[in-house]
Amino acid sequence: MDIEEIERIAVLGAGNMGHGIAEVAALAGYDVTMRDINEEFVRNGYEQIEWSLDKLAEKDQISQADADGALERVTPVVDLDVAVGDADVVIEAVPEKMDIKKQVYRDVVEHAPPEAIFATNTSSLSVTELSEVSDRPEQFCGMHFFNPPVRMQLVEVISGAHTADETMDTIEALAESMGKTPVRVRKDSPGFIVNRILVPLMNEAAWIVSADDATIEEVDSTTKFDIGLPMGSFELADQVGVDVGYHVLEYMYQELGDAYRPCPLLAEKVEKEELGKKTGQGFYNYENGGVQIPTDAGREDVHERLLAVMANEVAGLVAEDVADPADIDRAVKLGGGFPDGPAKMADDYGLAPLVETLDDLFEETDEARYIAEDTLRDLAESGDGFYGPAETSTAPEYETLNVEVDGHVGHIELSRPHRMNTISDGLLEELSTAIDELDEEDVRALLITGEGDRAFSAGADVQSMAGGGGNPIEAVELSKLGQDTFGKLEAFDAPVVAGIDGYCLGGAMELATCADMRIASRRSELGQPEHNLGLLPGWGGTQRLRHIVGEGRAKEIIFTADRYSAEEMESYGFVNEVTEDSELLDRAWELARDLAGGPPIAQMYTKRAMLAGRDATEAGLEIENQAFGHLMNTEDLMTGMAAFMSDEEPDFDGK
Ligand code: NAD
Repeated sequence: MDIEEIERIAVLGAGNMGHGIAEVAALAGYDVTMRDINEEFVRNGYEQIEWSLDKLAEKDQISQADADGALERVTPVVDLDVAVGDADVVIEAVPEKMDIKKQVYRDVVEHAPPEAIFATNTSSLSVTELSEVSDRPEQFCGMHFFNPPVRMQLVEVISGAHTADETMDTIEALAESMGKTPVRVRKDSPGFIVNRILVPLMNEAAWIVSADDATIEEVDSTTKFDIGLPMGSFELADQVGVDVGYHVLEYMYQELGDAYRPCPLLAEKVEKEELGKKTGQGFYNYENGGVQIPTDAGREDVHERLLAVMANEVAGLVAEDVADPADIDRAVKLGGGFPDGPAKMADDYGLAPLVETLDDLFEETDEARYIAEDTLRDLAESGDGFYGPAETSTAPEYETLNVEVDGHVGHIELSRPHRMNTISDGLLEELSTAIDELDEEDVRALLITGEGDRAFSAGADVQSMAGGGGNPIEAVELSKLGQDTFGKLEAFDAPVVAGIDGYCLGGAMELATCADMRIASRRSELGQPEHNLGLLPGWGGTQRLRHIVGEGRAKEIIFTADRYSAEEMESYGFVNEVTEDSELLDRAWELARDLAGGPPIAQMYTKRAMLAGRDATEAGLEIENQAFGHLMNTEDLMTGMAAFMSDEEPDFDGK
């Protein structure tokens, strides 16, 4: 079956995942039947879809008409024949039990049309084994959505041993038509890609603590602030559910062997029903303060050990031909929110020390999980990385940006979609390099946008800033780095256009302020929320915004720390034009191309003259960056940060 032929989708199971998948399919325009075993369950699922669609409409992420249309396309049913009788694709999301799933497929084949494709949302069970109880193993594959399907971008599409290439192509195209990013998992291997990396990471964290080699705080501080993952390893285990991780691990242990032996610490937690956030107690206590991870308790030995274990898993996946390093990295970035994929992180660290770490640990403990994969050892010995020798590396030149030149227009896309394109110091450095590089080319207009449709950029990456440990000297430097980098746009000889779609907050608004013109989609939200954190806009905001909106409005925007709609910002003169959401990118390109057709020399001198005519900005910038450093030491910053993290109103003491 071709993607063009798909019109009707049956989703089996209206639980957590089933209702989310049904919602995503309906939003993409498919007619969906959603089945569960009784009226109550199917009703519940339907009501959750209704709730979620309303929320999306309320936040202007979709129109009310689209929400209503999607809901109309979902038919909740209990009768299996009605559910699958006309289906082109059946997506199964019933409980993770082999016997339940097998029985479902035995029943479904009695009713589904022979050409229908079957896709299972299993997180860990064998796709091949399931396909064999159906009458169409070649039309059967895994389609592993992440939770919640409406928000998570990744879909792992898994080939069973009998799956036809055509089936894989169609289901990948289906995932794309739902606005998702499919990553192909070429072999049906336990944990597929993302869990194969994350679950052993949690296990290793537990082994480190149970051997008294480090504390939970040290491991989580290392994971979050040194490696830079979105959560600590134990925080992640609590979030996912210690039992969920433990069961996947047990399955891996059974299928893949000793290297996946679950740490008894995890088993203990499961026995005591301390399963994490959902039970109020896991490795952290959620009724009493929740997760508290010190920013500065990281340890190099823990860092190396966790990276080594992840690198070994990457090597295993590559050796088994489950996926190549680029796909592994893409999947883990989207599914696990990693800023960099594990293959890239291992390459950056150097494979040789990681192999050495594994060898030392194996010698010490005799544990199978420290046996380095041959692939890893070979790469390390040859001096190559997962992405090949350093000089011919196929890893993208920029990690956080997509940079291209199209005709005379240079385009920089902020590309950290898994973190709402937030601005880390790495991104600032790359942006600075990219502007310099484009300056060398015959670029006559520069367009800046953010990847995806949620955010131009949600601002500074607060987490990477917290990694600086609140050090005032580093804060001044960080402030200067942002001021200077954004300043390059003001001083760029050609006109600069910011195309804003979605959030444009804090540091991102300061970036957009340095463009010469700004176009925003209707759904965009802009603002300078720094005062909510007890900070000030430290990337030029106190100086540059007033040149565009006037000092009165600039003070209003900064002091209220409010969020403004694109229309309000248009009325303030900050946004030059508001477009419909779907038209933003086309219109931004159109404007950039128009400007690129203007007289380059006149444009250059106009920009220079306007910039030179500004008074005392330099002195103001200096005061701004010094002040930003001072603020690092205030109690107000701690108050603001704590309130931000827990989504509460800050109560500042002025200390
Ligand atoms: P869930 O328990 O929330 O939902 C399962 C639903 O299936 C229940 O409503 C149950 O009544 C229903 N069901 C049982 N037998 C059925 C049948 N014969 N026909 C139709 N419906 C039936 O579980 P979930 O979290 O939605 O997980 C479903 C699947 O998705 C599992 O395979 C799970 O591993 C996978 N998955 C879960 C997550 C997650 O984070 N929850 C993420 C990815 C994949």
